[in-house]
Amino acid sequence: MGRRAVLLDRDGTLNEDAGYLDRPESLRLLPGTVEALSSLQAAGWVLVVVSNQSGVGRGFFSQQDLDRVDARLRTLLAEAGVRLEASYYCPHAPWDACACRKPAPGLLQQAAADLEIDLANSVMVGDMIRDVQAGQAAGCRTVLLQTAPAPTEGLAPDAIFPALAQAVPWILSLAPRHVGAGFPALLQINAR
Ligand SMILES: [Mg+2]
Ligand SMILES: [Zn+2]
Repeated sequence: MGRRAVLLDRDGTLNEDAGYLDRPESLRLLPGTVEALSSLQAAGWVLVVVSNQSGVGRGFFSQQDLDRVDARLRTLLAEAGVRLEASYYCPHAPWDACACRKPAPGLLQQAAADLEIDLANSVMVGDMIRDVQAGQAAGCRTVLLQTAPAPTEGLAPDAIFPALAQAVPWILSLAPRHVGAGFPALLQINAR
């Protein structure tokens, strides 16, 4: 069995969603992000960012800009003792029809292959329904971060919380599951 990971969307999940964040100095962590990630890390969860960054494919900013923002994110977290195992970004535009732009599960599958992650025992956390879709397509549990009732388009996340901080106790309480061994595929827990 591989490692358990929390697969984290970036914008709107870890940091303020500034819309096509193109400069490191514009990165603002959301309140509670550092503490949440510290708790998860302390409990042995591997932390991985999986993020659509179509600003590259749309020509709004460069891959190098994206790398600089990623470096800033890592620095801010490292200052608090939090280690990101890896970051996976889809740089493509929607019309590129790639396999990695969420709701496709490509980023999650790549992370699993590279990092020996057990997707069935991992959790995808994001603030958009496409994060939930990507997580479900990869066989993960899913958490949707929303403050208002979510239009889930028929796809229910396993849990909904207003922010990452509130999702941490729920994630920490998850028992390991063995797919195909009779466990329910999806526990419908809406913890609002
Ligand atoms: Mg987001
Ligand atoms: Zn892509």
